[in-house]
Order: sequence, then structure tokens, then C-alpha cells
Amino acid sequence: MTDKTAGGDVRLTGISKHYGSFTAVHPLDLTVPQGSFFALLGASGCGKTTTLRMIAGLEDPSTGTVHLGEREVTHLPPYKRPVNTVFQSYALFPHLDIFENIAFGLRRRGVTSVRKQVEEMLELVQLGAFARRKPHQLSGGQQQRVAVARALINRPQVLLLDEPLGALDLKLRRRMQLELKRIQTEVGITFVHVTHDQEEAMTMADTVAVMNGGRVEQLGDPAELYENPRTTFVANFLGTSNLIEAAVESAGTEVLVRARGTRLRLPAARCPGTPQAGGTLLVGVRPEKISLLPAAEGHTVAEGRNKITGRITSSSFTGVCTQYVVDGPACPGLEVYAQNIERDTRLTPGAEVVLHWNPAHTFGLDAGHQAGAGTGTDAGTAGEGA
Ligand code: ATP
Repeated sequence: MTDKTAGGDVRLTGISKHYGSFTAVHPLDLTVPQGSFFALLGASGCGKTTTLRMIAGLEDPSTGTVHLGEREVTHLPPYKRPVNTVFQSYALFPHLDIFENIAFGLRRRGVTSVRKQVEEMLELVQLGAFARRKPHQLSGGQQQRVAVARALINRPQVLLLDEPLGALDLKLRRRMQLELKRIQTEVGITFVHVTHDQEEAMTMADTVAVMNGGRVEQLGDPAELYENPRTTFVANFLGTSNLIEAAVESAGTEVLVRARGTRLRLPAARCPGTPQAGGTLLVGVRPEKISLLPAAEGHTVAEGRNKITGRITSSSFTGVCTQYVVDGPACPGLEVYAQNIERDTRLTPGAEVVLHWNPAHTFGLDAGHQAGAGTGTDAGTAGEGA
């Protein structure tokens, strides 16, 4: 049951986990504000589940502490923490109906009049009509909602969700994301959600921590992370980024760079540190920020926009947009997403094109980073040693 005296943020201080010489989670400081929807996002093996399990008490940290508000819970067993976990395999009791599945936590604590609370929970997850069904008579999404209700009825201070939608098909997953977000807003309990699906994290969470190799690489609200990635891993793991190597020619409030003969501009405020003439940068731009024109119309591009020439090497129609890959002297393999409003039939593989975009939509990254980090070839697993 919720311990009202222990309300507050989830605070991890210097928390780490070693398995022998292997470090699954490097010392980590993290605060999850009370009442927020927080996502731990990362590729398989990056340490997100281990972090969640340390909050739950299912894993002993090698170093560091876990606080819930002012109360330290580092060494409390799971059942003594005001925390509940919903797993991907939700393991409902098959012989009990939905009502009794949800009532289980209350009955175990000796609560006898459960009806009102169970009905409230059934209403919250919109399963009132299913109360007397058995779990096998529900769809996967409905069963997952029962699992959430079964956890929430204990009024935990924090609900931990470990890839809870992993077993659902894509459409149902999308629906359940909105549903979980609605439930969280309605109950106001802190949700900490583990996922490898960037769209899922961005749809639901107020704050996302992107994990890579046992570390939090960047933390922020979804739009901030997407628009201002600080590392190539985040730039590539959250959506797609074009990263172009360039030499800095001059730097004021605007930075002027040259990428193999092509001059580009970007705001200094979106660059790491203070860019200096003579230095190098990775210039980043998202595929949907770029417009595409046949080369013959290049002269119509407004003065002051970033402009790159190239040739289309592939195009794929995805319904909402067409995704082009363009090779040019400044950079091979640039990706451009053009919304399917009016499709330009001249934009086919082999066509010479001009790419252009607003310099304000350009970000800079440290050229020392690997441009390919987080693209899928990089698993982002935790590393050896501490
Ligand atoms: P996934 O999405 O695949 O569950 P994850 O990011 O949640 O990945 P963790 O489960 O936290 O990753 O695991 C982090 C690393 O720690 C992995 O490399 C994993 O193999 C390792 N690991 C986890 N549990 C143990 C264990 N009990 N003993 C040894 N190594 C472990």
C-alpha cells in the first residue's frame, strides 16, 4: 500500500550494477519527479531493465542508493517498497476472473470490502463489461490493461513497467500507448517505463533517459531530445539524422562550415561548446526538415537556406511520405522524407536534385563521435570494467 509519508521523487544516487567483471550499469544519478511519466530507452542490453529492477528491489545495486522521496529503500525487499511492477508477460491468474485478478492484492492484504475499488479500477482501464470473464477470454491488450489495474489497485507510489507492450502487435501497441498515458494522467502516480521503442518512449513519456552501454547518454523531454541531440548515438537512435562532416570556416552567432566544397550554416547555440574556425563538426539535419527539388529548379531556392546538390539513389513510398536517399559531393547517403502531398514524378532514382533547408533546423555534434553510433549496427550494450 502507498506509504503517504514517503511520497516524492524516485532518486537514484551513484547506483551501479556489476556482474563479476561486467558492468551492466555504470554509476548513475537519476531523479524521476513525482507524478511524471518517465521512460528508460535504449537498445537491448544497455542496462535499462537492470536499472528498473534496482528500483523495484529485484536486483541489489553494487553501489549507490535508491530513495523514494526522503525514504531510503536501497535494502528493502521488493514487497516492502511502495512500488509495483508490470512485466511484458503479465501472468494473470488463469483460474480467476478479471474481477478477482484485480482484487487479488487487496484480498492478500486482508481487505474484505473490495468491490468499490475493483470497480473503480475496471472503469479506469475500461473493462467494466469484462469483470466476470477469465483472462483467456480477453485480447492481449485487454489482458495487459488488467495487469495494470491489478498493480494500480495497490496504490503504489511508483509503477514500474518493463516492456509491458512488447508482446502486442503494432496497431494495438500504439493504442495501448495512448491508453497507458491516459491512465497515468488520471491516477497521477509516477510511471517508470522501460522500452527499446523510441516512438513508444516519445509518445508516452514526459521525460526520456536514453541509455547506451550502461550509462544515461542524454535525458530530456522528447522534443528536446529529438531536436537537440547531444551525441551521435541519441541523434541516430531517436529517429534518423543526416550527419555531415564539415570544417568550421568562421564562428559567431552563426557558424559557417564547409563540407567538401559545400558551404552550410548553423546556429552556434545548437553546437557543442564554442565552435572555432579551423575546427571540425558533424552537421546534423533531420530528413523531414529537408526539401527536394529537381536540379534544374535549384535557382528558385531562397537565399540564406542550406543547399546541397546530389543524385537520388533510391526512393521508397511509405504512404505518409516518400523516403529518398541522395548521394552528393558533400555527403553520401543523405536521407530526405517528403510528405506525400503532391508527388513530383520527376524525383526518381537517377535524378539530379537540390536539397535545401532552413539553417535554424541544423544542429552540430562533436566530430570526435562515431557518426554511425545508434544506427542499429551499434548494440549499445554495457561495457567491461567499472
Ligand atoms: P533488454 O531490452 O534486452 O532486456 P536491457 O537494456 O534491459 O536489455 P539488461 O537486462 O539491463 O538490459 O542487461 C544489461 C546487461 O547486463 C546485458 O548485457 C545483460 O547480458 C547483463 N546481465 C543482466 N543480468 C545479468 C546477470 N544476472 N548476470 C550476468 N549478466 C547479466
